[in-house]
Amino acid sequence: MELKDIKGVGEKIESYLNKLGIYVPSDLLYNFPRDYEEFKSPKMILDLKVGAVETIKVKIVGNANVHRKGKLSITNISVTDGRNKMRASWFNIPYIANYLKSDKVIVLRGKISLSGGRLSIVQPKIYEVEKYNEIENTLSPIYQLTKGIKNESIKNFVRIVLDSKEEILKDYLPREYREKRNLAEYDFSIEHIHFPKDVNDMTVARKRLIYDELFIFSLGMFMFKEKSEKGEIDFLKNGSSKYIEKVLKNLGFELTKGQKDAVCEMVKDMKEGKIMNRLLEGDVGSGKTIVAFLVALYVVENGGQVAIMAPTEVLANQHYENLKKIVETNSLNVSVRLLTASKKAQERKSIIKDLENGSANILIGTHAIFGKDVKFKNLALVVTDEQHRFGVMQRKSLEEKAKAVNVLSMSATPIPRTLAMLLYADMQISRICEKPKNRIPIKNYVITEEKRNKAYELILREVSKGRQVYIICAAIDGESEETGSFANFKNVTDYAKEMKKIFKNRFVIESLTGRMKPKEKEEIMNRFKNGEISILVSTTVVEVGVDCKNATVIMVEDAGRFGLATLHQLRGRVGRGEYESYAIFVDTTNTENSRKRLQVIQNSNDGFFIAEEDLKLRGAGDFFGVKQSGAMEFNIADMYRDIDILKMAAEDAKKYINKEITFDYEHNKVLKCKLDEYIKNSYTI
Ligand code: ADP
Ligand code: MG
Repeated sequence: MELKDIKGVGEKIESYLNKLGIYVPSDLLYNFPRDYEEFKSPKMILDLKVGAVETIKVKIVGNANVHRKGKLSITNISVTDGRNKMRASWFNIPYIANYLKSDKVIVLRGKISLSGGRLSIVQPKIYEVEKYNEIENTLSPIYQLTKGIKNESIKNFVRIVLDSKEEILKDYLPREYREKRNLAEYDFSIEHIHFPKDVNDMTVARKRLIYDELFIFSLGMFMFKEKSEKGEIDFLKNGSSKYIEKVLKNLGFELTKGQKDAVCEMVKDMKEGKIMNRLLEGDVGSGKTIVAFLVALYVVENGGQVAIMAPTEVLANQHYENLKKIVETNSLNVSVRLLTASKKAQERKSIIKDLENGSANILIGTHAIFGKDVKFKNLALVVTDEQHRFGVMQRKSLEEKAKAVNVLSMSATPIPRTLAMLLYADMQISRICEKPKNRIPIKNYVITEEKRNKAYELILREVSKGRQVYIICAAIDGESEETGSFANFKNVTDYAKEMKKIFKNRFVIESLTGRMKPKEKEEIMNRFKNGEISILVSTTVVEVGVDCKNATVIMVEDAGRFGLATLHQLRGRVGRGEYESYAIFVDTTNTENSRKRLQVIQNSNDGFFIAEEDLKLRGAGDFFGVKQSGAMEFNIADMYRDIDILKMAAEDAKKYINKEITFDYEHNKVLKCKLDEYIKNSYTI
């Protein structure tokens, strides 16, 4: 079966599906809903929440009133639930007035707004009472959308693929084993994640699919661990560390204790000839880069080559400049080269030649440094910065470049210890817990919407002084005419327009989202870094490692929507230079839970503490409230919320590797299939 075989999919729709990452019919099944529309029982008017999508059962009072406002036609009626009255409004469907007869009882579902002191339900869907009774308490999936494709269409396509029965893999978990873990069957789960009967049904399906994702993930990790621990790098044994000593002398600052410990741990590993596979965790600004540079210099001094991989050209450039400065200041005999996708073919050739003959010692770049044509004479250390976990496949491609190699991954996402031990069971972990002493602490403000203007005043003051500002929104555009939860969030596109109006085009205001092409993103980030943009309105894609010392304000809209670790990371974009800096979190939810969580952020600047608190405050079953980004992206699992399932999955994966549990031939075959697919997909270089 191909996408084109699905009724309703033509060339155009296929290209839209591709945009959503859907290329074959089974992709539709794994494209899980990002939320559900829940047809809850109607509420009383008194209980409605402004800004939320709500359902009411009401009687129409009097006749509809249709009037025009420019090109817009507006239809208003008054409705009552027997106790209170409110207004219902529709735009540009004047004929609806014929249907809205006085005294008729109907169910309305739409967004509640409050304007001029009047409560309204805006552009609500209308249901006959009996029709609504039928769907009451059911869930309907809401998918990620892109322009040109409707939620209803995706729903239909998924239904068709499900009904064809062709695309669902068999279950790899034997029944007795599944029952022991209280997990639903695979095909049941795939169907019911899309079309659950009720919330309970959805929860059961989710649990199984979360388990799957984490089990396969853990399996991949343990399999690789076994493999990578073999081997030895003998020329790094008992090496000399003169370069490190020299650089430390001329650094101009003293390393913090965490930095010193990290360098010692890594050098010790190498001096003993062990293969190192280490995660260096440290808050934004804790100074991880210099640690990596020192370790790299140890490797070079003792005859090895080093590759340092950054996720973007901006970051690669930044590292290149910094390391070159260190090498020059200390007159070290080290050749540092920069390789990015934008290098000309000829220069690329010369770099590759020098790597092959060993005259280039350290290569810094983006993923281009792992191109097939890039060969090293003696690669002994790979550093990845701000990177998601190095996939199984990336490591495989590394093995082709060197028999044995040390790996250092750096991450600015502090995660709780219990979690780190599960997610990075294949690595040793070093942590930098303190920040350099010379930092001015960031001023934090958690505000409600009424205070937004005050925040804009602060922003105006800062940009007028020549400083720069980030504004973060949860959504990209007003994409969803749907009633999904995103509809209520501020979005980058509209916000940027709004800001241009508010600041009367006096400053350069740009936007940045994950949906832009990598090239466009780089360009915007570069311009921001060069000070050409005053206000950047962005989703969370704004890069983790970029060091823009002139940025002094970050304002996060709908802050309650984000995980605490994400908020903390975002805050790390500012306060990197000599200026006083501000982080503003707009709490739009006004719930107790959200207030509590934001209080943690307001009162602490310690990433590890915040991560531990986040784990405590995260409620199991809180599926759509808060999404963590940055550390590790799963399709359906959330490492904080699902830590119990992760424990279970990791335990099972370990037992499977150790052959303490075994599956029969058929089940193993399906599992192998899943695992191959996982490994293939983790290939991102
Ligand atoms: P991150 O851990 O976020 O990658 P960086 O390595 O970019 O942090 O360091 C941030 C800044 O702090 C850099 O300008 C770096 O030179 C500086 N720095 C690093 N370590 C120290 C230290 N021990 N004392 C003072 N400044 C430091
Ligand atoms: Mg960094």
